[in-house]
Amino acid sequence: MKNKQKRQSMIIIGAGMGGLAAGVYGQMNGYRTEIFELHTLPGGQCTAWKRQGYTFDACIHHLFGCAPGSPIYDMWQEMGAMPRELVMPQECTSVSTLDGKMFVDYYDSRKLEEHMNKLSPNDSKVIHDYVKGIQAFTKHDTMAAMFTGKKSDILKLLPGLFSIAKWMKPTMQQVADRFEDPFLQKAFPLLVYSMPDSPAFLHLARHGYGNSRNIQWPVGGALEFSQSIAKKYESLGGKIHYRARVAQIIVENDKAMGVKLTDGTEHQADIVISNADGRRTIMDMLGGKYVNDQVRESCGEPPDESMMAVSVYLGVKRDLTKEPSAMILLLDKPEMIAGHEHKNLEMQLFGFDKTMAPARKGVIKVELHSKYSYWKQLHEDRAKYKAEKDQVTEQVIAILERRFPGLRNQIEVKDVTTLVTWERYMGGTHGWTNMPKRKFTFSIIGNSGKEEYDRTLPGLANFYFCGVWATNIGALFMNAQSGKKIVQAICKEDGIKFAATTN
Ligand SMILES: Cc1cc2nc3c(=O)[nH]c(=O)nc-3n(C[C@H](O)[C@H](O)[C@H](O)COP(=O)(O)OP(=O)(O)OC[C@H]3O[C@@H](n4cnc5c(N)ncnc54)[C@H](O)[C@@H]3O)c2cc1C
Repeated sequence: MKNKQKRQSMIIIGAGMGGLAAGVYGQMNGYRTEIFELHTLPGGQCTAWKRQGYTFDACIHHLFGCAPGSPIYDMWQEMGAMPRELVMPQECTSVSTLDGKMFVDYYDSRKLEEHMNKLSPNDSKVIHDYVKGIQAFTKHDTMAAMFTGKKSDILKLLPGLFSIAKWMKPTMQQVADRFEDPFLQKAFPLLVYSMPDSPAFLHLARHGYGNSRNIQWPVGGALEFSQSIAKKYESLGGKIHYRARVAQIIVENDKAMGVKLTDGTEHQADIVISNADGRRTIMDMLGGKYVNDQVRESCGEPPDESMMAVSVYLGVKRDLTKEPSAMILLLDKPEMIAGHEHKNLEMQLFGFDKTMAPARKGVIKVELHSKYSYWKQLHEDRAKYKAEKDQVTEQVIAILERRFPGLRNQIEVKDVTTLVTWERYMGGTHGWTNMPKRKFTFSIIGNSGKEEYDRTLPGLANFYFCGVWATNIGALFMNAQSGKKIVQAICKEDGIKFAATTN
């Protein structure tokens, strides 16, 4: 629907990826924008913090869109996040036993095939098939095709569709079952964040992206990445108000008119965009007035169990430069940690980015599955909550000591976050897993056409969502892109031609 008059101003709630992108593209298209962010920093989930010279990065494992010329890179460039210094880790991840036997999932296909053949010569056919699969994905920008939704990008997939189609159905576990070697059988299904039921094509696409240097690591980590976007936003004339928590969206005649902060101040604008948790926005900031069955369903409880629910950070006086960037450590027997049975530990070893720690030192981050309710309940008794965090840290250190002898005495700083930490930090309802309760189904053609997601609310004009609530996907580029898409949609409604520039 076209508005009679171009709207002039936007208020954006939250300076996460979606909010920052909405701000950047809003400014580029002549809107006066302001962002209200409850925290003291931009970035939302894309964040990090310093402890005694160590940087603890809470977010990035794989940053998509690092190869100049790819559509996602172009968007980062428009947002001021590229070009920047990048590091190319050697591997997508690695799997190790406690006594050091390793499967390194090298990005370089030749090196990968050689390495896997050494591990299991009898599996050479399956290994070759896997490597060919990665190479097929390397040739295609599948993520851009699936998510940017441009018909031209989808058409580019067609000639290679046959070679990637066979990977669309099997899970990681089903591919792993083809190996004869017991170690590969055990290690392979874990390559996607220890989720054997993940579709194999997700892993191959990610791997292909690494192969073509379209996934890399931004030197300095997540917070510096977010700050570069905030800087671009401010250089375009946008204003971020920090420590500014929105309590209410002001509505008159079913039109969003502005926001009221917890300090009681009111701020007016023609458009309000929420990048904040959807449940809080719909039920608290709007008092549950603009809902239908679908919205009510989306606001239901998300799954209680989550990967990366607890992170243990260790700043260590140990050179990690020769270690892989990411490792899944297989335990010899299951262990209850954070109320969850763990058969392996997922970790990142930040020896590959010199800026993350003082010289000859490094950071190890271990990520654990756990339940939101487990931590929420513990948090009611702060002493118990702290004791459990200490216990989890101790268990993790005891395991790591077996793989990295001497590590215990090299630890200089420790920190632990849980889903409750995220909730406190970002004002959400379920830690960082604040997605709508909807099943996300995946298909190349299907998703590209789904532009509408949940970007508006029934009966409320001049209001939009961006970020995870609009995309239902936990990926930086997707949520940044949701901010761009919402400004495109607003420009269309206002009858102006959307503009984006890298200047
Ligand atoms: C542990 C972890 C690892 C990840 N790894 C990767 C990865 O390797 N690669 C990748 O691409 N993606 C990764 N992601 C996903 C990615 O970080 C997120 O999808 C993305 O950052 C979410 O962006 P968003 O736009 O939804 O905003 P969010 O990050 O959710 O930000 C919302 C903002 O709104 C603010 N806010 C909330 N309520 C209010 C209020 N009332 N008033 C004012 N402000 C408010 C919050 O403080 C926050 O700043 C990871 C996420 C996590 C948590």
